Amino acid sequence: MSTRTPYLQVADSGVHGLGVFVTHDLPTATLLGTYQGRRFSEAQLMRRHWDDGLTYLFSLSNGDTIDGSQGGNATRHINHSCEPNCEAAEEVDARGRLVLRIYALRPLLAGEELFLDYGLIVDESFTASDYQCFCRAPSCRGSMVAPPTYSSD
Ligand SMILES: [Zn+2]
Repeated sequence: MSTRTPYLQVADSGVHGLGVFVTHDLPTATLLGTYQGRRFSEAQLMRRHWDDGLTYLFSLSNGDTIDGSQGGNATRHINHSCEPNCEAAEEVDARGRLVLRIYALRPLLAGEELFLDYGLIVDESFTASDYQCFCRAPSCRGSMVAPPTYSSD
């Protein structure tokens, strides 16, 4: 069962495959949709072989992963950009479950394509170049993998 995404339309992307476009002018912080799909615990995820890559997988801080390719809604087609215009925020829903909601980071114009910064966390058998980015943003990292984090000490 998918939640509604009344402001979103899936169409051919200028960047990669399908993309998601907004149908209205929307202010900053508009709730664009909830990322839906089949849920896997950390243990279940380890036992699976993912042959379609990580594109539709979203990891939550409690270790669960949402697979948007199964039972997902329009939000699973949001492409990556190193300069995103929306962000995914973890929230607790009315039933106490951790959910991922997608919000506009800035005012959006009708017809704009939505982009998230996937910030993929990949294991050691992959390198950043396995997930090349072609977003063409001036600040493009060249990869959809999360940038390295530097500790302050
Ligand atoms: Zn990029």
